[in-house]
Amino acid sequence: MNYSSTNGDAQVGSLREALFQTFSSNGGLLMPETINPLPKEFLSNLHTFSFQEICLKVCTNLFGDEIPEQDLEKIIEKAFDFEIPLVEIYEKQVYSLELFHGKTLSFKDVGMCFMAELITYFLEKDKENTTQKNKEVTVLVATTGDTGSATASAFFKKEGIKVYILYPKNKLSLLQEKQLNTWGENITALEIDGTFEDCQRLVKETVADKELNEKIQVMTSNSYNIARLLPQCLYYFWAIAQLKGEKRTAIFSVPSGNFGNITAGIIAKKMGLRISRFIAATNINDVVPQYLLNGSFEPRPAVRTISSSMDTGNPVNFRRLLTLYNHSYTRFSADIAGYRLTDRRTKNTLKDLYEGYDYLADPHSTVAYAALKNYLTPESEVGIFLATAHPAKYYEVVKQTIADVELEMPSFLEEALRKEKQIVSLSSKIDDLKVFLSEK
Ligand SMILES: *Cc1c(COP(=O)(O)O)cnc(C)c1O
Repeated sequence: MNYSSTNGDAQVGSLREALFQTFSSNGGLLMPETINPLPKEFLSNLHTFSFQEICLKVCTNLFGDEIPEQDLEKIIEKAFDFEIPLVEIYEKQVYSLELFHGKTLSFKDVGMCFMAELITYFLEKDKENTTQKNKEVTVLVATTGDTGSATASAFFKKEGIKVYILYPKNKLSLLQEKQLNTWGENITALEIDGTFEDCQRLVKETVADKELNEKIQVMTSNSYNIARLLPQCLYYFWAIAQLKGEKRTAIFSVPSGNFGNITAGIIAKKMGLRISRFIAATNINDVVPQYLLNGSFEPRPAVRTISSSMDTGNPVNFRRLLTLYNHSYTRFSADIAGYRLTDRRTKNTLKDLYEGYDYLADPHSTVAYAALKNYLTPESEVGIFLATAHPAKYYEVVKQTIADVELEMPSFLEEALRKEKQIVSLSSKIDDLKVFLSEK
């Protein structure tokens, strides 16, 4: 399986190259060159397979023969040591796919854990073959919270991997910061004097910097990297498997920021998974719902909301979506509907869902739920919304919304709050970061 660029420039070869290079030579994002449909027999009998079996089958289809099957089996086993349950909210009609049972309580653990195992696998292969480089890699990540904590957890104490988490100074809550800056060992928190967009720019420029990459190999775990995105296809299959032979087709509502999650869903559909359509659910940072309304894509600065992990004004994966639909607005908008929710309505819906249906969702998952309710036609469709974070991960907002909510602080968060922070402060200038990295 080869990977090609959304810019249409020179193609990158293998999964391994796509993983370590992140971008094509002139800064394009990478995509699998072809997406092959899975056998009908497999697709119509999903409910008869285990999670492991489904992962193996889908990964083999995605990655081709680059990784031998028994190695792939081990990677899958190590990466996914948590459940991904489909929880019924209204009887046989609305379901929540709970993607937040990994270590850091957000769906980002799924792609990240797989990516970390993949890197470890290739590094170990290199050790066997000493002529290869890649013996040590530096992983950079820009974050407002969830991506950073998932990266830290997935790479913690992994041999040959150093992680630098870039986050904007004074922009995160204490609970969010502590999940990023209390790790130690091979994880370093870099507090950047700038905005989240500055952090993203720093990561992108550093990863693409030829001079620096001759000294140290730099890559990123942001969703620029296709190796983090592709494993996210897996849970779409697992969701349908858990519907156990349901006759109606499924509609997925995806709470979206950089649109990696929904891109993975579209790829799953391209592999033949029976999905009627998708809803791109956003907060007021709604450039994609706007595009769906009028066909023009106009990035703009992000605005802060209570679903802060979706505060993106220029979604990274929009180019990948365009590529999947051959730049056809007609095809794009036939598959995906857009929906936006204000913070006030998010709070009201979060409350209604808790009081009316005894289901506590985090603000991001709530946005997806509201969007689903708006579009679902129950006779012909089953609705699934992706629950992307544990409600306690957004403890402050949930507590503010429902004063008397019973919400226990999971041990991961409690521990993070208790630990001392260790940070390095840097300006938002690329040269400062480059000097810092090359001196390490
Ligand atoms: C990152 C994140 C999102 C947005 O996912 P994208 O793949 O960037 O669209 C939604 N919800 C939560 C909780 C997140 O952490």
